[in-house]
Amino acid sequence: MADSRPVTTTDSGIPVPSDEFSQSVGADGPLLLQDHYLIRKLAAFDRERVPERVVHAKGGGAYGVLEITEDVSQYTKADVFKRGRRTDLFLRFSTVAGELGFADTARDPRGFAVKLYTEEGNYDIVGNNTPIFFIRDPMKFPDFIHSQKRRADTHLHDNNMQWDFWTLSPESAHQVTLLMSDRGTPSSWRHMHGFGSHTFLWYNEAREKFWVKYHFKTDQGIKNFTHAEAAAAGAEDPDLHIRDLHSAIRRGEHPTWTLQVQVMPYEDAADYRFNPFDLTKVWPHEDYPPIDIGTLTLNRNPENYFAEVEQAAFEPSNLVPGVGASPDKMLQGRLFSYPDTHLHRIGPNYLQLPVNRPKNAVHSYGRDGAMRFTNPADPVYAPNSHGGPVADPNLLAGESYDVTGEIVRSAHRPHAEDDDFVQPRALWEKVMTDTDRAHLVANIVAHASAPEVTDRTKTRVVDYWRSVHKDLGDQVARGLHVNGK
Ligand code: NDP
Repeated sequence: MADSRPVTTTDSGIPVPSDEFSQSVGADGPLLLQDHYLIRKLAAFDRERVPERVVHAKGGGAYGVLEITEDVSQYTKADVFKRGRRTDLFLRFSTVAGELGFADTARDPRGFAVKLYTEEGNYDIVGNNTPIFFIRDPMKFPDFIHSQKRRADTHLHDNNMQWDFWTLSPESAHQVTLLMSDRGTPSSWRHMHGFGSHTFLWYNEAREKFWVKYHFKTDQGIKNFTHAEAAAAGAEDPDLHIRDLHSAIRRGEHPTWTLQVQVMPYEDAADYRFNPFDLTKVWPHEDYPPIDIGTLTLNRNPENYFAEVEQAAFEPSNLVPGVGASPDKMLQGRLFSYPDTHLHRIGPNYLQLPVNRPKNAVHSYGRDGAMRFTNPADPVYAPNSHGGPVADPNLLAGESYDVTGEIVRSAHRPHAEDDDFVQPRALWEKVMTDTDRAHLVANIVAHASAPEVTDRTKTRVVDYWRSVHKDLGDQVARGLHVNGK
């Protein structure tokens, strides 16, 4: 070679005779099946895509570190939450309803999924930029997502379908209030909060139990687009949020979030004024004040999007000693659904990929399967008398809670203030500014004015917002030119 460039090879390392020309019978003739270089190149290309995520398909991510600054050992024995502990992490942001090429600026919740590479295995906090969700039972999840995605006939998004589902599911009102506010169109991933959203169990060395919620509050400050700004920014650059995060980190502007927790004593859950495991509700701060416990910093861009972002696999079931699941029904559904998706999307050994594998040694009896990279040595079964790994029940002692009852299919047991509209009403009445309220109304009206939204649906939209607050419903009614009930 005239220069120092390496010779192109196949993936088997065999030198390739040409980067340009297929093998043909004569310069103008047909191509040959024996041209292994061409055939493998095309076959590999045909298989480049793994199935995109059915939700949260479009996203971006970065590496960073979580540093814990407060002592929370009275609540949890998790090593990752010890004061002074610094834990490497990968964080993936995403939109929810769109496909891989969708605009980052769409009105949508944003995924906020953190993988903490702890000394005790990977701990994934797989949440959103909202502290709540549209529904509280996973039975409705596929239907909810279908209503947000494309119609069967036209393959178009359909606002009538969305409002039909939401107005028939009043538990959605709190999250739809957030979605229709300007927080539904964040100006960048750096300028929004992240939330673990679900309630989790924490237990300490003494096996005392607590319920906990995580909040990652942006230190960059909240910045949102208005409806018009989001539309303009998305038309200009559909990849705006991927670009913004990547450029900021490349410039050395490392975004940070303050990690807060709300801690509820275990016994409080039984007779709290609403169900503390209901994902459509927050815990009011005056009841359980948030405590600052650390800082999350993003400081390194991935080098390969496919390997590190597309193949990143987060699962709420990745919990470490000191942290457990709660009876939040949406969490229970997600504990199954996330790893199931990865098995389908990436393959049975996705946990061996560099972005997904833990930093600590794996001593699992799992073996074999497609694309297995490393396999355990003998003995390959437990129990065994040959010195293989042995489980330690003490590490997870405390990860338990009481449940009794008949097997039923029903809504959760009623609580004193079990109402779908109290919290969105508080948001409208107590928290939003006049500008927030005006934009919320305008955004709802714009969304529900799409040509496909029928008058019947619009009437239900007005009733839905009147249930949140009469003023809000009346303003939506005026904007939509319908009266409601
Ligand atoms: P607080 O007044 O103590 O807290 C209100 C919270 O809302 C703050 O976290 C605030 O922090 C956030 N907030 C402010 N403006 C907006 C906005 N335009 N859209 C969404 N969130 C906003 O009251 P409570 O804890 O009693 O909660 C009252 C209502 O606030 C709840 O019903 C819920 O709708 C909303 N909320 C509550 C949260 C909680 O965990 N308690 C978390 C987020 C929202 P910031 O501006 O930094 O986001």
